[in-house]
Amino acid sequence: MRILVIEDEPRLAGHISRALARRGHTLAMKHDGAEGLRAALADAPDLLVLDLNLPTLDGLAVLAKLRQAKCPSRVLVLTARGEVVDRIKGLEAGADDYLAKPFSMEELAARVEALGRRGGATSASDLFRLADLHMDVIHRRVTRGGRPIALSPREFDVLQVLMQEPGRPFSRTELCERVWQRDHEYDTRTVEIFITRLRKKIDSPFSAPLIHTLRGVGYVIRLPD
Ligand code: CA
Repeated sequence: MRILVIEDEPRLAGHISRALARRGHTLAMKHDGAEGLRAALADAPDLLVLDLNLPTLDGLAVLAKLRQAKCPSRVLVLTARGEVVDRIKGLEAGADDYLAKPFSMEELAARVEALGRRGGATSASDLFRLADLHMDVIHRRVTRGGRPIALSPREFDVLQVLMQEPGRPFSRTELCERVWQRDHEYDTRTVEIFITRLRKKIDSPFSAPLIHTLRGVGYVIRLPD
């Protein structure tokens, strides 16, 4: 993958870059937010490793501008230790995953690899339809009522898992496993944030909601009542 690391601590940025380059990725580095944003918009790398606390433009602002510009890059945010608020803000702003500092290079590589795998699940079909919601997996396109809907890569993955089996309830844990491939860490808050993000795009602008919460169970996508 082509990976851009935006991290202002030169030693950490260097460690990250070397660790990922050793695993066969192509790396670029920027050390402040504004420059990082320019590079990301110019090159649309496959993945951004984005520190949140950056000079000139903080990571959240970089993320917001990238998503506004419909930049398709996947984004892994680096958060300060124990800053749950940062993590939640990062995910709400459009990040695909997060890693809390300090982390080992093995953890980082595992997160990067999981983000590189396209879609949390495999399927026999590439086109899904539910009511007026259409999903084209090959071209990564989603429309509802003929209107294109821009989804971040991980939002797309969550929707894909649901759309593959309409009417089938998924627990938060199962969604987390299928999409983020975290085997040991059941981070259900992340799933909730992504469902909220999806609803804003898929359901809120339309009259009939398709994504439903099943109390004590999880989520299901199904035809409106
Ligand atoms: Ca920093």
